[in-house]
Parts: sequence; structure tokens; C-alpha cells
Amino acid sequence: ITTPSTTGTSDEALSISDADADAVINLDHGDPTMFEPFWKNAGDKSTVVIPGWHTMSYFSDTSNLCWFLEPDFANQVRRLHRIVGNAVTHAHHIIVGVGSTQLIHALLFALSATDTHHPVSVVSAAPFYSMYPGITDFLKSGLFRWAGDATSFKVNGSSSFIEIVCSPNNPDGTLRRAVLSTEAGKLVHDLAYYWPQYTPMRGPADEDIMLFTVSKATGHAGTRIGWALVRDADVARRMVKFIEMNSIGVSKDSQVRAARILQVISDGYELPDPDSTTRFFHFSRRLLADRWQRLRRAVEESGRFSLPQFSSEFCEFTKEHAETYPAFAWLRCVDESIEDCEGFFKSVKVLTRSGRHFGAGPEYIRISMLDRAHNFDLFVERIASLGLG
Ligand code: PMP
Repeated sequence: ITTPSTTGTSDEALSISDADADAVINLDHGDPTMFEPFWKNAGDKSTVVIPGWHTMSYFSDTSNLCWFLEPDFANQVRRLHRIVGNAVTHAHHIIVGVGSTQLIHALLFALSATDTHHPVSVVSAAPFYSMYPGITDFLKSGLFRWAGDATSFKVNGSSSFIEIVCSPNNPDGTLRRAVLSTEAGKLVHDLAYYWPQYTPMRGPADEDIMLFTVSKATGHAGTRIGWALVRDADVARRMVKFIEMNSIGVSKDSQVRAARILQVISDGYELPDPDSTTRFFHFSRRLLADRWQRLRRAVEESGRFSLPQFSSEFCEFTKEHAETYPAFAWLRCVDESIEDCEGFFKSVKVLTRSGRHFGAGPEYIRISMLDRAHNFDLFVERIASLGLG
């Protein structure tokens, strides 16, 4: 079958064959390959060539607290935040990491006390990003341990905590604030999805500790680069210590590439005559809007599932009212004959992640909205075929 595009956009060509009708569709991971067409189109502008004698030293800038941070990468990070208006950077140290995953490890170390026998409790409000428990407990550290849902955590005088606040939240796309009082604990704001393709910009975030990653900002998950904006110099120093012990710094080659990628996005907005092919966030937002529209229609027609609703808000970046288009669909099986939503989708060859991994129930699943067009189209077709009628 060949299905024509329903929206008139030519960015995502739809073509579904008979073999596809039986294919396994893996939407378990949030692999951001949907952004590839933009970067294909960007061509040479986004290509980086590194001569054999470049980036050989361990060191990038020994005058910087984060001595392995490439100055050009740091400049492009500050520039992009200024253009987008999603975070203040002037009072913060930038710490680069092997993805924001390494930075979460570094933060758990940096924020816990080494002179106590009581591990600090790490919490996040459910549904929380499914990797937080694993990242916290994988090495069975004596410094910190996962303590689950922040909303049911009892703060008591003697014990401290670290609350990870993910906003917009993975998996359900909601905007979040800390649920615990900060006096007894420390907050980490994971802002991986606070970019204009996913959500309206409500002004610059100005938290003590903020995490970002190229994985979700630009789609370059394979470059493995994230950054933390950290106000307190002692916390920043301890993170640097952790990264020294863990990987003696962060690939300069990757930072050089990430710097170029961020530069292309910023240039697309600041150089003369921006258009839909140079404006990354506008391009990506349009694709996500189209996907969400098609998914909502298929879900509605099925009568068996539901999706979260979001109200539109003014976006300070685009200067217009904008909808929320999360990177994941947090789908609920409302059909009571389905007890295990993940199992049900698996039986029709769609791989998703059960709500159980996020501190929620088996009636929920998380579905990636960021896969390649072909996979996503197959998924929408398949969900449309699951209707009650
Ligand atoms: N935080 C959140 C909320 C995420 O969704 C992800 C990726 N799925 C990460 C952190 C880690 O991203 P990375 O290590 O690729 O930067």
C-alpha cells in the first residue's frame, strides 16, 4: 500500500509495503533519528573535518575550572541559550559530559556527602525517567541510593535528599517543579526537553543546576555530548573531579562536532534570510506537530487508548501561541480488557516501554515520537488498525 501524506508536508514521505505491515516496530528507545532530514539538508555547513594532529592533548583550557571543556563548544552553548531564551548562563559554570547521563552520575557524586555513613536519597516524582533508578543504584554506591517517587518521600530532619526534576517530563511531557522543600535537599533540573520543538518557551530557566544534551536538542545522540549549567563552583569542581576519575575528560572531537552543530542552528536564526530549511526548531516542530496530529487521530478512532492533553501557551521564542509536542507519547490503555498495555502492543509487534519502568502502572506505555518517518508511519497505521470496530 502507498499512503499519501495526510498533511501536505513533503518532509516525511510515506510509503508502506506489504512486508511493512508485518514488521516489528521498535519505539522503546527515544532515539532521535527523526531530525536526520534537517541535517542531510544542511550538508557541508554541518560537516566537520579534524586534521590528524588536532585535538591530541588531554587538555582544552587549563584556565577553566572545567579544563576539558572546549572553548568553542562553551561559546556555542551560551550563544544558543541566548538565542532560544531557555536558560540563563552568565552566572553558571558549564561542565561538559559524555551525554547528560555521565553528568547525572557526576552530580550524584558532587551532591552527596563523603563523610557520612548515610547514603543520600535520590528521588523524582512519578512517572519519572526510567533510567534515574538504574543510574543511581547500578554501582551500589554507599554515597547515594534510589528512594523512588518524590511525592511519597518523607523528608525528615536528619536525612538529606536529591530531587531530580525533569521538565518537560520524560515520559509524560508535563512541566514540572520540585515537589519537596529544597531546604533539606538539593535539586537537579533535567531540562533535556526544554527546547522549542517540544514545548513553548516560557522564558529562561535560572536554576542552580540545569542539564541539557545534544541528544534531544539537535538529535545528535551518537555524539554523546551533554552539558550542565552549575551555579556553585564547589559543586562544579566535584563534578569535574568525578569526570576526571571516570573518563579523564570528554572527547574533544565530539565537542568540536557538537559546537559546529549548535553553530549551524544559531546561524540559521541569526544570519540573513532565515527560512524553513535553515530554522531547525521551526522545521522540527512542524514534523512533531504533524506526528502528534496523526497519532491523536488514530488513538481517537481506536476508542481503546488515551493520550495526555496540553493547553497551548505563548512561546517567547517564536512569539506566537504554540502547542506542546512531547518527545514521547504517554499512552494509556483505557480498554479494560487490556491488563498489560506493553504486552498488548508487543503482541501486535510494536515495542514500547511499560509504565512500570517509570514508577507508574501497566496500563501506561511510553512511545518514542522521535523515530524515523517510516517507522512512525507504520506505527500510526498499526494503531489505526486496532480499533474496536
Ligand atoms: N535525561 C532525560 C530526561 C532523557 O530523556 C535522556 C535521554 N533519554 C537523558 C537524560 C540522557 O541523555 P544523553 O545521555 O543521551 O545525553
